[in-house]
Amino acid sequence: MTIQNGLGGFRRAGRLDGIELSEIVQISERAAQLRAQGVDVIALSTGEPDFPTPPHVVEAAHKAALDGQTRYPATAGTPALRSAIAEQAGVESAQVIVSTGAKQVLVGAFLATLDPGDQVITTAPFWTSYADMVKLAGGVPIVLNCPRKQGFKLTPEQLEAAITPRTRWLLLNTPSNPTGAVYTEAELRALGAVLERHRQVWVISDEIYQHLAYAPFTPFTQAVPTLADRTLTVNGVSKAYSMTGWRIGWGIGPAPLIKAMAAVQGQITSGACSIAQAAALAALTGPQDLLAERRAAMRARRDLVVAGLNAAGLACPVPDGAFYVFPQTPQAMPSDPAFCRHLLDHAGVAVVPGRAFGMPGHFRLSFAYDTDSLTQGLRRIADATAKL
Ligand code: PMP
Repeated sequence: MTIQNGLGGFRRAGRLDGIELSEIVQISERAAQLRAQGVDVIALSTGEPDFPTPPHVVEAAHKAALDGQTRYPATAGTPALRSAIAEQAGVESAQVIVSTGAKQVLVGAFLATLDPGDQVITTAPFWTSYADMVKLAGGVPIVLNCPRKQGFKLTPEQLEAAITPRTRWLLLNTPSNPTGAVYTEAELRALGAVLERHRQVWVISDEIYQHLAYAPFTPFTQAVPTLADRTLTVNGVSKAYSMTGWRIGWGIGPAPLIKAMAAVQGQITSGACSIAQAAALAALTGPQDLLAERRAAMRARRDLVVAGLNAAGLACPVPDGAFYVFPQTPQAMPSDPAFCRHLLDHAGVAVVPGRAFGMPGHFRLSFAYDTDSLTQGLRRIADATAKL
């Protein structure tokens, strides 16, 4: 059967307007393509730890599969995992939802709460997916510019000025992807004080890099307990336990919100993979020494990368968390995408332009790689920059 163009031709839904594969994925794919052609590319573009998933976690998954934990799981998460998360957080299981990655927790929250035109305040630089997730759910992202001179962090004045009757959420990320900024307890309290005056605004605190903080980390609900009844905390095993592929994340919040998110999830995935949930349970309840060991290793890499980039003349602030640096691109280049393209084509190093995070004039380099790759990558970046 032939399909007539125009009649049977493919048509994208309007809600996808302006939404494409993320620039990070596009760059990683181009790096992989170059590699396939035999080009020696060092990709410092992806946001995942290079460490393996701990063996006891893999064994728990194996055992769960052999033991028959292979049926549909409960929609909001297995009782064992939900209660382990709840216990750690000091809440009830009904306040916890387990999803297919922290990513699905965020999308689920927006789908469960946003009506067309509802606004979500977030900050630039932001993790690339935030704005598109809000748009997919029919909402309007309100992006507030938070440049380096304010530590890439939102100020109470900016927040106050941006709130409207249509504001439903403030979306915060601490430690941040891509800047590594970590909000202090006092900074969170000051933002909380603004929100005390605006009862329609709820908070999403994305704390997925909690265990990769090199400065004191304070969870939002600890800094501002009075707002716990309108806060959703997002976390997961991807970054802390090197489990990006297992796709387990969770949200902790008021029970009615969690129930609404479960209703969404029930129609989309029927719940996260039962075997991956067993693995996440082993990660959370097993030995925790690896968290400090891996944090120390990442911190040493951070210091190496910050020193290397500054020595190359690229102004690079020291991140307090996560595994990214967000330096400025050189004045000599017309734009951040041009600089990233230059590095990929002439130095064989993949990094991501700041434009993808809502802040041009910068680039993001992930230091979640072995020291050899980082050292070699830095040397190549320095050479390519010196030639500009
Ligand atoms: N939030 C932030 C800030 C992230 O950087 C990421 C992963 N890049 C996620 C959420 C999603 O994590 P997950 O793998 O659990 O979906």
